[in-house]
Amino acid sequence: MPEVVGVVAVQGDFEKHLKALADLESTPTCREVRTPEDLEGCTRIILPGGESTTVGLLMQRYGLGEALRQRILAGMPTWGTCMGMILLARAVEGRTQWTLGVLDVVVRRNAFGAQVHSFESEVPVKGLDEPVMGVFIRAPIITEVGPGVEVLSEIDGKVVAVRQGAILGTSFHPELTDDRRLHEWFLTL
Ligand code: GLN
Repeated sequence: MPEVVGVVAVQGDFEKHLKALADLESTPTCREVRTPEDLEGCTRIILPGGESTTVGLLMQRYGLGEALRQRILAGMPTWGTCMGMILLARAVEGRTQWTLGVLDVVVRRNAFGAQVHSFESEVPVKGLDEPVMGVFIRAPIITEVGPGVEVLSEIDGKVVAVRQGAILGTSFHPELTDDRRLHEWFLTL
């Protein structure tokens, strides 16, 4: 089956992910995904940064939520960055917010406080020799991790990247830097 990387393109920084994928040495076929039809034929999916309440509502309205949940549960490699990770999570702390519920973690939205809207920090990632530059924009953290979830990164004792099988979640935005190592790695999952 030819590799087709879908990027959920309802709202948010999906174009940055498409650009990052286009930069790769062997660029895969990429596709913007808004509907269940767009998802057909995709072999991997990325959920970008954005506003999780809005995107969650629109994904449900377009029928994309349920279609995507089925595909992820069937094993499709999936990566959520920031908002994307929130949408993958089992639950959002202190809220009854719709999520796909495929990644066994609890997330806390806007976890770095109202004053610190965004910042950059070096982030070590398990499996990478050198840290990545993490761009955090009103970023979530992971406050509970299920038994099948591996913690890949922590900063100041806060979990900011995890992996559960072929599902990857990062609080930060590798698509906003020039470092393509995580995109390369995602394509090997
Ligand atoms: N704060 C956003 C949310 O909770 C996520 C921010 C982002 O994706 N950069 O939905």
